[in-house]
Amino acid sequence: MERKQVAIIGGGPAGLMAAEVLSRSGHAVTVYEAMPTAARKFLLAGKSGLNITHSEDYKDFATRFGDASARLRPVLDVFTPQDVRAWAAGLGAETFVGSSGRVFPRAMKASPLLRAWLRRLETQGVRLLTRHRWTGFAENGYIFETPVGKEVVRCDAVLLALGGASWPRLGSDAAWVPLLRARDVPIADFRPANCGFEVAWSEIFRARFAGQPLKAVTAASDAGTIPGEFVVSRDGIEGSLIYAHAASLRDRLERDGKAALLLDLAPGRTAERLARDLARQDRKTSFSNRLRKGAGLDAVKTALLRELLPDAAMAAPEQLAALIKAVPVPVRGTRPIAEAISSAGGIRLDAIDERYMLKALPGLFAAGEMLDWEAPTGGYLLTACLATGRAAARGVEAWLAHGKP
Ligand SMILES: Cc1cc2nc3c(=O)[nH]c(=O)nc-3n(C[C@H](O)[C@H](O)[C@H](O)COP(=O)(O)OP(=O)(O)OC[C@H]3O[C@@H](n4cnc5c(N)ncnc54)[C@H](O)[C@@H]3O)c2cc1C
Repeated sequence: MERKQVAIIGGGPAGLMAAEVLSRSGHAVTVYEAMPTAARKFLLAGKSGLNITHSEDYKDFATRFGDASARLRPVLDVFTPQDVRAWAAGLGAETFVGSSGRVFPRAMKASPLLRAWLRRLETQGVRLLTRHRWTGFAENGYIFETPVGKEVVRCDAVLLALGGASWPRLGSDAAWVPLLRARDVPIADFRPANCGFEVAWSEIFRARFAGQPLKAVTAASDAGTIPGEFVVSRDGIEGSLIYAHAASLRDRLERDGKAALLLDLAPGRTAERLARDLARQDRKTSFSNRLRKGAGLDAVKTALLRELLPDAAMAAPEQLAALIKAVPVPVRGTRPIAEAISSAGGIRLDAIDERYMLKALPGLFAAGEMLDWEAPTGGYLLTACLATGRAAARGVEAWLAHGKP
């Protein structure tokens, strides 16, 4: 095989995986990364345990990518959650399955895995050039801002792995969108995914309860009824249970201009049993005591009920039980994309061919979160970034070997 020069722009999980594949095949690979170090978002993901993939049945796993599931299926088939685990183990990061089915490295962080990965890439001859920001196209080349000024890079193929639009301070700032749009690449606007939502809390509720968790509840939306927990924030609600509903709440807000999450504050008891337990409470004791003793509600759940359904205190036991089991939380909007775990939107999947090459720009490939797919939290994001990184690298190889005009 002829050794070719390949530039990978973006040193996150998708770009590094592409670099691993292409350098192993013998190509001369350079990774250009805008930030002073690579994979900052990956490291941040490690702060909450690094949920690297999911152990659920693969048939279910492969459906978690919404409308993009069918398109991603072939690349996931050749880099399955089992392969992710084997790959991590190969870098010294043995994994385990948590009680939720999510898969984590035993170290519960990303830094040891990333260190071993960067060492492997170095051994395979990959050059990593940090503080190299791609800023546009030149005649037959790509322009970079570097510590020593402007540089134009020319090579045989280029793979973009620039990330989505969440947490821009970690590097993925979506500044590339106008560059590609100007070249007729169809790009869906970025929107927050796995994000918090704004709720119009009263000053009193916000001051007392911001930061407090609501545990053991279920929440219902178009996404279904899901058990879990979330946190009251200063401006609304956030946390894993909210992220699980985020795409459906966001889409409904966009469609109808309003949306609400329906909470069951006492999912362990039926409405009938709750009504009986509440009816046994002394009407003379305080409302919060009746809810604590009769329904097992703690201070934050009681305050939330009062905040959202002020008339609940007057309700008879049967009616009160029904309210506790269906508290509507009206959301006003998503929290900003800069705070979201991930983003929806990006290069439309029909803008790339089966090799992950941009149809409008032959020789330019793309992978990772910059493509238009989304998934819930649970390790799906990293798995798809790694899998599309591999797929685009294979696409580069195929194009360099056969497809180049
Ligand atoms: C707080 C948080 C926790 C998360 N936890 C998890 C988790 O537990 N499990 C999970 O599956 N996912 C998690 N994610 C999501 C996951 O980290 C991302 O989906 C993943 O990092 C995306 O990989 P990527 O390679 O596509 O992009 P990124 O990781 O965003 O990497 C893109 C890289 O491109 C660089 N870049 C951008 N523009 C340029 C340019 N013009 N020139 C040169 N370089 C450029 C950026 O600096 C960046 O290093 C989490 C995200 C956040 C924010």
